[in-house]
Amino acid sequence: MYNYLIVGSGLYGAVMAQQLHAAGKNVLVIDKRPNIAGNVYTENVEGIQVHKYGAHIFHTNDKKVWDYLQAFTVFNRFTNSPVANYKGELYSLPFNMYTFNKMWGVVTPEEAAAKIAEQRKEITGVPRNLEEQAISLVGRDIFEKLIKGYTEKQWGRDCKDLPAFIIRRLPVRYTFDNNYFNALYQGIPIGGYTKMVAKMLEGVEVRLNEDYLADKAKWDALAEKVIYTGPIDAYFHYKLGYLEYRSVRFETELLDMPNFQGNAAVNYTDRETPWTRIIEHKWFEFGKDEAGNDLPRTVISREYSSEWKPGDEPYYPVNDERNSALYASYKALADKEDKVIFGGRLGEYKYYDMDQVIAAALERVEGLE
Ligand code: UDP
Repeated sequence: MYNYLIVGSGLYGAVMAQQLHAAGKNVLVIDKRPNIAGNVYTENVEGIQVHKYGAHIFHTNDKKVWDYLQAFTVFNRFTNSPVANYKGELYSLPFNMYTFNKMWGVVTPEEAAAKIAEQRKEITGVPRNLEEQAISLVGRDIFEKLIKGYTEKQWGRDCKDLPAFIIRRLPVRYTFDNNYFNALYQGIPIGGYTKMVAKMLEGVEVRLNEDYLADKAKWDALAEKVIYTGPIDAYFHYKLGYLEYRSVRFETELLDMPNFQGNAAVNYTDRETPWTRIIEHKWFEFGKDEAGNDLPRTVISREYSSEWKPGDEPYYPVNDERNSALYASYKALADKEDKVIFGGRLGEYKYYDMDQVIAAALERVEGLE
């Protein structure tokens, strides 16, 4: 009999497994995929760590989380500075003096602030949705060229029907600073996320290609407690209805050239280009392999966002009102499952970043030991 069965080997599951194992518990981790690490999974292609389930750039202000991870990996000095491509015009992200200069020709922070103050006048009162929030932060021109098309592709919804908090993820700065994150600590695990998660799971029994929900009773009988990191609505067989998720499809290509776009991430912010962004994976590690050699070829992934339907991989919860209410009903059911802890982006239906998911797991596990 295991003390804990952990369903899912992504970051939430891996932290739980690592902590419980370290505390002397008998732990079994299962995952329905053929690999560990959930959506942070990276795969080595010709010396390039390919982020198989989308770009993951670790960043945090949480020293506890940063310190925790040091036992399992060394982070490189990667700083995320995506470029926005709007119909061939290139803009720096996040929204900062380089962006404002390119957009309006303004040179000083004062000129930029005046331009934005002028454009935000159309918003009176507290912004009620993503569109109003965006215009109130950066004005209509930036909203139209850098936010509207991208967001509508990413979420499949009008910017007026999305919560304001999504756009507040991005900094707005009146300085020349292209660092996408306001984070004290930032980097990519050298050698890839899979290696980091493998290290976290060292000494823990892991069984891959195992689908918990397909044979729940069998798995439940193996352990005193279950930590479930899959979608909460799937756990309950969608009996209250489907929660909405956004899914992502990747078209990945190995190209016979050393440099496709000169940056890890280029966002296509117009509405017409069907993909949201292109990731060129080698730049997460400065174009070199682990031995420091330049790589002659490159791997790129075009990202296409779509509405999740059964059978797809869920990536992003859609935290609008309807889904938040439905989640609350599922959460009430989950609270009655004495034996089961629900956690992670899918288990809690929350747009967690990696550091937040790790912090949540570290906090949750404390009560268990
Ligand atoms: N966003 C945008 N234009 C961009 C990048 C982001 O409008 O070029 C908006 C979009 O609505 C997106 C949100 O900002 O969903 C949050 O972006 P973030 O990069 O945090 O999304 P993630 O990396 O989690 O997909």
